[in-house]
Amino acid sequence: MAIVVQKFGGTSVADAEKIRRAARRVIERKQAGYQVVVVASARGQQTDELVRDALELNPNPPQREMDQLLSTGEQQTVSLFAMALEAMGYKAISFTGGQIRMMTDGVYSKAQIKSIDADFVRRELNQDQVVIVAGFQGIDEFGNITTLGRGGSDTSAVALAAALKAEECEIFTDVDGVYTTDPRLFPNAVMLDEISYDEMLEMASLGAGVMHIRSVAFGKRYNVKIRVRNSGNDNPGTVITHEVPQMEGVLVSGATIQKDMAKISLIGVPNVPGMAAQVFTRLAEAKVVVNDIIQTEISPEKANIAFLVGTSDLPTARQVADDLQKELHCENVFVRDDIALVSVIGVGMRSHYGVAEKTFGALAKAKVNIDSITTSEIRISCAVGKDEVERALEAVCLAFELDKPARQRKPV
Ligand code: ADP
Ligand code: ASP
Ligand code: MG
Repeated sequence: MAIVVQKFGGTSVADAEKIRRAARRVIERKQAGYQVVVVASARGQQTDELVRDALELNPNPPQREMDQLLSTGEQQTVSLFAMALEAMGYKAISFTGGQIRMMTDGVYSKAQIKSIDADFVRRELNQDQVVIVAGFQGIDEFGNITTLGRGGSDTSAVALAAALKAEECEIFTDVDGVYTTDPRLFPNAVMLDEISYDEMLEMASLGAGVMHIRSVAFGKRYNVKIRVRNSGNDNPGTVITHEVPQMEGVLVSGATIQKDMAKISLIGVPNVPGMAAQVFTRLAEAKVVVNDIIQTEISPEKANIAFLVGTSDLPTARQVADDLQKELHCENVFVRDDIALVSVIGVGMRSHYGVAEKTFGALAKAKVNIDSITTSEIRISCAVGKDEVERALEAVCLAFELDKPARQRKPV
């Protein structure tokens, strides 16, 4: 029997009526002959509320206790969901991540999934149960509850779909699918029928919160067909898939912004082997997540090394940079804490020129000053002042006609 995994995000299970609506989705699939696994998030803004409760009692809560606490939001949803299905005449059983042995490493608040007891889930499905699993959580080898990072229920769902070889993983959320950019920031954004895993990975890593990045990585590695769709209507949504040939004809598929960024520049670092290795080893030891790195030689003797970090990592990163300035005898450390990143993404960039020119031209026309630029094969990112980033997003969206479906854009 084919299996489908259906994941419902926080707004899609926010109250009793929404849970019933989600349960009807499950029943439709059951009636069509599928075995159904549900992955549910905490209701509404509950995770944020739990974070606030914790911080009120302890501004620096122990990480283990934080994960133990945050995992409870999802646990409430799954039992309520099972009760709703039971009242509608269907057999359903809920589990925590630990109960289905969703094993993770021990890194609290950003744990990575190592394995899942798929046979256990299959046995329940074969008893005609709808299996409802709490998203966002697992356990480590010592039985401690871990969480997968904010937005991590997507990853629980795709990992389960991979482990069960599900036909499809449906991600039900509060928008119709994946858009060219966040429709809340640029209301004329258009929905994409399909997007490649690679583009979705870039978009997720550059701020498109619609999918948890690790879920897309799982999907790509294990060939999981992921469909992002609205829990409130029947639109088919967006399929995340391997690249299809016509995607190359689209220059830019999407744009993102990432707020709350900072840039640290080490100015006048000795231009000798091993400097970058030292800088980034020290940052890694301090568990700082570094986004983009820019190194340039400024003379035969000196180089500048700059990198972007999230503002939450800034105090630690600044301390590391100050220590390194003394140890490496750099001339200066320059910090900008008011940065945001605007990025354009598209696999079509690989085979077309002119994307950089068009991006910078659009920003110039909108009078947005570019602090720094980084690129990959399929994206261009510009760091700009945080007060200008929304204007920058609109400018690039209009330049690449992200307010129009691809077939209506000017040919490249
Ligand atoms: P859920 O609680 O269902 O997991 P999320 O808030 O995590 O929902 O993700 C859905 C939100 O992602 C949307 O409300 C939208 O504002 C935001 N978003 C950001 N970028 C995009 C994009 N490119 N396409 C669609 N939604 C996006
Ligand atoms: N409830 C968690 C969060 O708000 C996980 C999720 O919703 O995916 O981040
Ligand atoms: Mg989400």
